[in-house]
This record gives sequence, C-alpha cells and structure tokens, in this order.
Amino acid sequence: MSEERSLNFIEEIVEADIAAGKNDGRVLTRFPPEPNGYLHIGHAKSICLNFGLAQKYNGKTNLRFDDTNPVKEDVEYVDSIKEDVKWLGFDWAEELYASDYFDQLYDMATEMIRQGLAYVDDSTAEEIAIQKGTPTEPGVANQYRSRSIEENLQLFADMKAGKYPDGAKVLRAKLDLASTNMHLRDPLMYRIKHTHHHRTGDAWCIYPMYDFAHGQSDAIEHITHSICTVEFIPHRPLYDWFIEKLNLFPSKQYEFARLNLNYTVMSKRKLLQLVEEGHVDGWDDPRMPTISGLRRRGYTPASIREFCERIGVAKRENMIDVGLLEFCIREDLNKTAWRRMAVLAPVKLIIDNYPEGQIDVFSGENNPEAEDGDGSREFPFSRELWIERDDFMEVPTKKYFRLGVGLMVRLKNAYIIKGESIVKDADGNITEIHCSYIPESKSGNDTSGINVKGTIHWVSAEHAKTAEVRLYDRLFQVEDPSNEDGDFKDYINPNSLHVLPTVYIEPDLANAVAGTPVQFMRKGYFTLDKNSTADKLVFNRTVTLKDGWVKK
Ligand code: ATP
Ligand code: MG
Repeated sequence: MSEERSLNFIEEIVEADIAAGKNDGRVLTRFPPEPNGYLHIGHAKSICLNFGLAQKYNGKTNLRFDDTNPVKEDVEYVDSIKEDVKWLGFDWAEELYASDYFDQLYDMATEMIRQGLAYVDDSTAEEIAIQKGTPTEPGVANQYRSRSIEENLQLFADMKAGKYPDGAKVLRAKLDLASTNMHLRDPLMYRIKHTHHHRTGDAWCIYPMYDFAHGQSDAIEHITHSICTVEFIPHRPLYDWFIEKLNLFPSKQYEFARLNLNYTVMSKRKLLQLVEEGHVDGWDDPRMPTISGLRRRGYTPASIREFCERIGVAKRENMIDVGLLEFCIREDLNKTAWRRMAVLAPVKLIIDNYPEGQIDVFSGENNPEAEDGDGSREFPFSRELWIERDDFMEVPTKKYFRLGVGLMVRLKNAYIIKGESIVKDADGNITEIHCSYIPESKSGNDTSGINVKGTIHWVSAEHAKTAEVRLYDRLFQVEDPSNEDGDFKDYINPNSLHVLPTVYIEPDLANAVAGTPVQFMRKGYFTLDKNSTADKLVFNRTVTLKDGWVKK
C-alpha cells in the first residue's frame, strides 16, 4: 500500500470524528454479509475498506452475518465467508449474527408500537404497493393505519405466536405516506415467514426487514462508522429515525460506490444461477469473480488487497477494467512466483550429436527477480526433449530468433543448438525436429563465442511428467452482461475454458502445491488445482504474462 496517497473521503470523516473526540476517538466498523452466497471481489472491496479503516485508526471490525432472511441463507455460506475473510488477511473482533438480536429487535418493535409509531397492516403486498402511491403522487392511508396501540400490540404478539399464515399481516412504521422518499412511506418492519432459520431454527415465524434490523444491530454493537454502498443512501433517514426513536447508540451510516468489474456479473442471485445451472464448476470455479474462485485461479490475498487499494474509495459508481486486477496479480507474482519449465504445445526435439543414454543435470534459479534467486532447483537434460511447437518455424521470417533449420537458439540453462532437419507425418505435420548442440556453449560456462538472440524453454522427454492445463478466458463476451438486452447468460463466452490434456512439465513441478503459484517460463502464471491428484496433475492458468485481450 502506498503511504503517500491522500485520504479517501471516509478516512476524512473518521479523522474529523477522532479529532472532535467523537466516541472518545473509538473506531468500530463491521462487515455485514448476508449468508446467501459466496463472497465476491466486490465484497473484498468492502472488507478491505472496513478492516482497513480499523487497522489504520487503531479500531476493530466485527463480522456480522446479516441473517434476517431465512429463505436463502445457509451455514455453508457462513463457513465460506469466514474462510474468505481470513484468507484475505483480516481478523474480526467478534463474530456476530443479526439473528442473535431477534429478541431485542422484537422488543424494539413493540416499543415503536407503544409510541404509536408502528401498526399491523392486513393488506396484501399488492395492495400496499398501490396504496404507497408513486414518486409523483402521495400514498394513501388504509383503515389499518388507525388501529389502536392496544390492538397493534395484541396483533403483533399474535403474529409472533404463529396465529397467522405467511403474508397475512405485516408490521409497518407509521411514518410519512407523502414523503418524496418512497422508503419512508410506512416501510415494512416485520413479515411473517414460517421458515426454518439456520441458527434460530423454528423459534421465530416473524422476521425483521433489513431497515428494521441493520441500524439497530449497528447500535447494539456500538458501531461508530457503518459503511455501506450508495444504493442505501435513501435508507439512511430510516436508519437514523429508528435509532432516534428508540434512543439507541447513535451509529452513523456512510455510503461509498460499489465496485463494478467488467466482463463479469456480481449479483449473488446471478452467480447462484451460473452455479445451479451448471455454467461453471461451482462457486469456486476459477472463472468466477468470487474470492474462492480467484483463490483457486491462483490469485494471492496481497494482489486482491492491492487491487482494492488502487481503485480507491469513490462516491460515484463506475466500471473497473478487469485488466487492473490482472495487472495486480502479475506484479505480485513476478516478484514472488518460482519459475519452472512446462511445454504446453509440444513437439519432439532430437539432438543428433548428443550421446544416447547420457544425462546432464542443469540447475536454474527459482526466481531471478529475487535477490539470491530464491534458491535453485535441478532438472535433467537428455538427447530427446520437448519444446513448444511455435518455437520452431519451417520457413523462418526475417526477425525470427528462435529455432529453424539452419538457425541457432539457446535452450534455457543448457546449450546452444542448431536446427538440422525435420520429420513429417503423412498429413504434413512436423513430428520430429533434429538438431545439433554446441558442447562448449553450456550456460554459465560458455566458451563457444557464439551469440544467439533467442532462448527457448524445454523439458527432457524421458524425465518429463505430464499434467492437464486449464486456460481460462473471460466468462462473458461483453463488458456489462447485466445491462444488455435479454438474459445475461446469453452473453456467456463459449470459449472461456480451454483444456490442454497433455502438457509436459519439468519433474520438480510434481511437488507443486495448490495455492502456491508458479510461472511457467514464457507462458504465464499457473497454480495447481485443488482437485489435482498425484496421478493426475491439473494446473490452472492464473494469468498470462502480458495482457492478451483485444477489445472488439
Ligand atoms: P447481492 O445484492 O449480490 O446479494 P449484497 O450487496 O446484498 O449483494 P451483502 O452480503 O449484503 O451482499 O453485502 C455485504 C457487504 O458488502 C455490504 O456492506 C455491501 O454493501 C458490500 N458489497 C456488496 N457488493 C459490493 C460491491 N460490488 N462493491 C462494494 N461493496 C459491496
Ligand atoms: Mg445485501
């Protein structure tokens, strides 16, 4: 993180609050996911912001599950969220659940009724929507709005006791049916849902709405800065109103622009569709914008934190180019990833003047970007090697500095070779390239006096291991699939996954560990897939070495 950058507007607010002695200088933020899906890169933005503020100002951050909607929530999601936040490198002060406040929230609702500020409404959802009016026309009160406090208390208690079916009644705030802010036209506080809850089981059949749960949950925890995304701006008056009427700790809400990334979707509802309809291999498919997908793809926590730092904190929404995310992972891996050789599109190279059965052992630094090379590893060399098909050209062009008949090139960490002849099959495909090597040109001890411009990677055919390699491209063909005509899934990129069934890798790569990225020299960054086995190694391409996406 760069130290020199100027404060973002939320940091300015926090610093002003500290300077004014507000909350005795205490900073307590929270990250409030609804456990109805896996976290995505947008959530990472919110996590970095909330936890980052606390770290910077000596504060703390709570992890609070916003689990007030039992229909879509699940423990599987709770577990994945905890894993992802930890993996991103953050520790929460307390693990809390909005459902732990159900009793308190119920008491607060009855308190609102006692103050004459809430009523039980028997209207259907459709009736309520019509009675609410339109942005240009005020809403109208119905006969339930004038119910007595006693009647409301009794009806609300009966709602809680399970006397009514789903949808029969709701509890509403008695606020302002003429407000220009539609959210203030007697918003719903509670609805009836005879649904099992992942934590409270069947204890409740009424559940609080977001607006009646979030602010009070913040207040119960004494959150000082409740940071959310800009779509909650119109909810803020309601947030303040409940806190004021209930005389609670004065938590304050602040809004920042949500992160939008191109060539993907980020709504959990849409991500769930991709998973359930089998367009991807689960929430952690390496093409998904989820934290777990990015992890499986080979992204590092540091690269995601750096990305969130670079995009900054804005008030207005915009679209961030996924190229920036790729830039951040390239920068990180260039500094840290070990280099290895793997041949993705192989062709056989035979060194005619190298004795059959002879083996040389060469070594190479793990990472030339590191000061001491990060150590080194050894790899065998023999008469028959695999090289990349496109490192040989039958009719070389003028500026071609790799292998051709009569052309010389260096084999990485080994010898200089010269192309001699080729063998083709009946279809005209090259099956073997024959060459000769210059014994005096050994890397590190080159007395040949020959200068070559190109260096190519290789693996010894006899010693190479094989692996499946999965190359990923963007999941969608258009920048903003949610904003196109028709269904967003019509814009899925049919070529987002390209599998190379047999790639030859240097022997040391059999020791690769899932989650530890490696650079396949000249080819990109890769990481072992979590479902890889010793019998079948699978590598995911994290990112290419250079930006290969051409804008159409
Ligand atoms: P969805 O609408 O896809 O279900 P959500 O916003 O409801 O997502 P939550 O689990 O409620 O998801 O979000 C937890 C926190 O993360 C909230 O504070 C929310 O504002 C924030 N958040 C969600 N998406 C983004 C995003 N794209 N950029 C920044 N913050 C986000
Ligand atoms: Mg939400």
